[in-house]
Amino acid sequence: MSESQLSPAGPDFLRGISFDRVPDGGSLLGHVGGAPALLVRRGANYYAIGAVCSHQGGPLGEGLVVGESIRCPRHHSCFSLKTGEPVRAPALEPIPCWNVRRRLDQLYVTGRRSPEPPVEIESGWRPQALRSVVIVGAGAAGTAAADALRQEGFDGSITLIGDERDAPYDRPTLSKQFLAGKAREEDLSLHQPSFYRDRKIHLVLGAPATRLDLPGRAVGCADGSFYSYDALLLATGATPVPLTTPGSNLPHVCYLRSLADARALVVQAGRARHAVVLGASFIGLEVAASLRARGVAVHVVAPESSPLDRTLGPPLSAHLRALHESHGVRFHLGRQAARIDATDVTLDDGRRLSADLVVAGVGVRPNTDLAARAGIAVDRGILVDQRLESSAPRVFAAGDAARWPDLATGSRIRIEHWVVAERQGRAAARSMLGQTGPYAAVPFFWTQHYDTVVSYVGHAERWNRIEIARDLHDRQWVVEFVSEGRIVAVATIGRDRDSLKAEAALERDLRAKLWKRAGYSPLEAG
Ligand code: FAD
Repeated sequence: MSESQLSPAGPDFLRGISFDRVPDGGSLLGHVGGAPALLVRRGANYYAIGAVCSHQGGPLGEGLVVGESIRCPRHHSCFSLKTGEPVRAPALEPIPCWNVRRRLDQLYVTGRRSPEPPVEIESGWRPQALRSVVIVGAGAAGTAAADALRQEGFDGSITLIGDERDAPYDRPTLSKQFLAGKAREEDLSLHQPSFYRDRKIHLVLGAPATRLDLPGRAVGCADGSFYSYDALLLATGATPVPLTTPGSNLPHVCYLRSLADARALVVQAGRARHAVVLGASFIGLEVAASLRARGVAVHVVAPESSPLDRTLGPPLSAHLRALHESHGVRFHLGRQAARIDATDVTLDDGRRLSADLVVAGVGVRPNTDLAARAGIAVDRGILVDQRLESSAPRVFAAGDAARWPDLATGSRIRIEHWVVAERQGRAAARSMLGQTGPYAAVPFFWTQHYDTVVSYVGHAERWNRIEIARDLHDRQWVVEFVSEGRIVAVATIGRDRDSLKAEAALERDLRAKLWKRAGYSPLEAG
């Protein structure tokens, strides 16, 4: 949704309002000359910013003010109240920001703040001996890293190498609105072509990197080209695990990772009447929902006894299963496909399901081959330290491909979330520039099934107890995952502010750990 689609509501801030209408720590929805706007108060300070998230149009008025920022309830983007700049993924563009004056007991918005000046690359900054950065992988992490390098003022060369032919795009939308026929391809681009031009980010597409020369500090691509670097980021993402079922090489068997995959799937879905989805993963179930939106009959086949319960726990698993069943999806759990033929799939109990489309969603593997062949340490992901640097000096890794020492859980983890990949891309960029802090952030992901969105903050590979808020109506959920007496993750449906509050609480815990590690208490740190 864009600003223009949201009709102006509430007071016109240009005409002024009584200052006591804005509660401390809260916000008031109104408009500035017809543009939806929020007046936010933090103590004695007032801010006026756009009310619509620049990521996917979330209503910031329902978000959470934390410090001098506001967080979007939909996908947890975060904007500076002072400038409107996005300070956290997934938002990439700023929101409007206006000046506020107080005259006696009235507040007035007086004019738009000029946006941050455009990046002046020639007069930028770089640490000594960092003249060129090469990024392999033009997905969430790679693109965010290139952007962050320029935002931090780096004025050297940036080469962003991607093996896909498409310029960086919004991957999560593929299995949702795009497959359901509710988003167009042109809506998917992360940035306009001018973004890369203006920032002098050399985008090399359709060029798989095939070789790393670590001593010579160069990346070789399949077309024979070579790119020298002073620092390298491996942001190679992950690849769907291939099916080994007999018949899995038939043309109506699809995977979904890339925009090219999604285009092919849309064509197949357009002529399909019966689909079998193999795997009750997040992607498998999102695909099931989108195929139902197209009127395709869907059967989901998976070996587990309940979908997603290892991540979301049994109660939410049962809820999502019932949701899919209410939309006509048929589950075959505890089962696997034994054979795929042109018109059906035979299960391991002999049952045959009609299928003119088969979609595999049985998980992904991190793309580590390039790193491993160069001798970089790899173990279920490219191993990195807290600054996201790999075992090879000046070579960093981020996103789905990286496994890092997580401060919150105390163990090495690898996470497949869009927002985590973007944040890690930015963190890796800062590490390259010599900023020394560890990567420490509370993970967040969302998943959408029909009009139900699950938001999940934290990370719980295991837990001792699940606490469910009971006083909510049946389409709202707050599920806390408790391990050793501490809440380590929270999943919500229809309770976006609770998700934001849970994230803020987990961040406080994480900060306390960081302070403790640094040798002083949160109180001392002020
Ligand atoms: P990617 O975004 O995959 O980017 C890696 C890029 O590197 C790819 O373009 C890859 O082709 C390229 N590459 C690999 N090897 C090479 C090489 N040798 N040379 C050049 N290029 C190379 N997460 C959520 O949090 N919420 C969601 O709702 C959600 N939905 C999803 C829906 C789908 C259909 C998919 C596939 C994923 C979804 N995810 C979601 C997960 C999320 O998209 C990933 O976690 C995120 O994209 C990871 O970012 P990345 O930069 O590490 O990898």
